[in-house]
Amino acid sequence: MTELESVIGLEVHAELNTATKIFCGCKNVFGSEANTEICPVCMGLPGTLPRLNKKVCDYAVKMGHALNCHINNVSRMDRKNYFYPDLPKAYQISQADIPICENGFLEIMVGSEVRKIGIERIHIEEDAGKLLHDDATGGTLCDYNRCGVPLIEIVTRPDLKSSEEARIFLEMIRSILRYIGISDCKMQEGSIRCDVNVSVHEKNAPLGVRCELKNVNSFSAAVRGIEYEINRQTQIISSGGNVERETRRWDDRNGMSILMRNKENAQDYRFFPEPDLGDIVLDDESIESLNNELPELPNAKIIRYVKVHGLNYSEAFVIADSAEKAALYDECAASGKCEPRSAANRIVGEITKFMNDSGKKISETGLTAQELCELCSAAEKGVISSSGAKKVLDELISVGGKTADIIERLGLVQNSDSGFLTALADEIIACSERSVNDYKKGKSNSLGYLVGQGMKASKGKADPAKLKEILMEKLKQEE
Ligand SMILES: [Zn+2]
Repeated sequence: MTELESVIGLEVHAELNTATKIFCGCKNVFGSEANTEICPVCMGLPGTLPRLNKKVCDYAVKMGHALNCHINNVSRMDRKNYFYPDLPKAYQISQADIPICENGFLEIMVGSEVRKIGIERIHIEEDAGKLLHDDATGGTLCDYNRCGVPLIEIVTRPDLKSSEEARIFLEMIRSILRYIGISDCKMQEGSIRCDVNVSVHEKNAPLGVRCELKNVNSFSAAVRGIEYEINRQTQIISSGGNVERETRRWDDRNGMSILMRNKENAQDYRFFPEPDLGDIVLDDESIESLNNELPELPNAKIIRYVKVHGLNYSEAFVIADSAEKAALYDECAASGKCEPRSAANRIVGEITKFMNDSGKKISETGLTAQELCELCSAAEKGVISSSGAKKVLDELISVGGKTADIIERLGLVQNSDSGFLTALADEIIACSERSVNDYKKGKSNSLGYLVGQGMKASKGKADPAKLKEILMEKLKQEE
């Protein structure tokens, strides 16, 4: 049997954080009492007319630029007709044939490889309400607050090859949405969700028949669902069967997908142009000005950090995922005053830990890029030890001030005077006969012990790198 390959496509729905809903003036907020943020328009009562919120188009265009899409000067809203109790109008206003953005791509880092994932389209649409199970009556309650909340749907081409690539892609989309400030991306509030398409085919053969997974509510559920679906389809093909085109519901609790509908009972939404709204017309100038508002995006930063600065992917992601950390790192790296690697280690390590533990932002601490550079440079030159550097960083974060002053105040300057270090080395060699002999017999880690003794004897003041050099030189002479 020839080798099998899988391809994955994603449809990511992200709720936009505009102040008001897409077609009415109701507030776009989460967590209000059921059915208090509604009006006749978002309830779809007869005789009402929708009016498109311009901010929704602006946000979608920004995302289009971020994903290198072509932005259509003219696009159209369409009605997608279906009945479900969470949709009182019995149709959703969406975009069918002419989406606002199409034909883009996103470059992501997978291992050391840059992968270009095609974006088929981004369109705007409205969200539906929420159904709640009522234990008291055994019935279902409808909360229409979410009706008319603006969404963008990002549809990829089938370019992803594994669940791991899908996870990296989803993390990158979330990071970008937050960077450009158009979505809160709160998974638990349902503000970012996805549908997953999976197919399996023999190597060098055309793509297989795809199945769509619905109800994927977290990135980890997407990973599990994709893996389950690849296995299911691989088993069907391996045993000589044919995969049917199906829509399946992902049951994350039980870790399996369940058939919802197949080709025979596929839904026909009877799309037609929304008669109550005109075309969306955008001029080149406003499209371009939205492009100019975009900062350097996290995926570009990650590629730069890995390719140019030699960080690994997870370090690069931790820094780039937060605009604040990335700004701090970029400023240190650009200053040329310290090694970028040294700043990266401290940002990924102690600074990230501090932010996670305290819930504070860097701007709420005393830390600045300039003082972080000074600190890194002092550690690189051996002016302070690595444990001294930790103490200085703690001070910079908790009270702020100048690195040089803190080093002085805490008495952290290391002694790198060669007379002092030579005397110290003699003293250690004299009273550590066993380790000295071990070292001469080829146990190179004994040297670490000897340096440690020197640090202890000097109460941490000795410059460990220089002390190590002097010790090695002396032990060589003794041979
Ligand atoms: Zn409304």
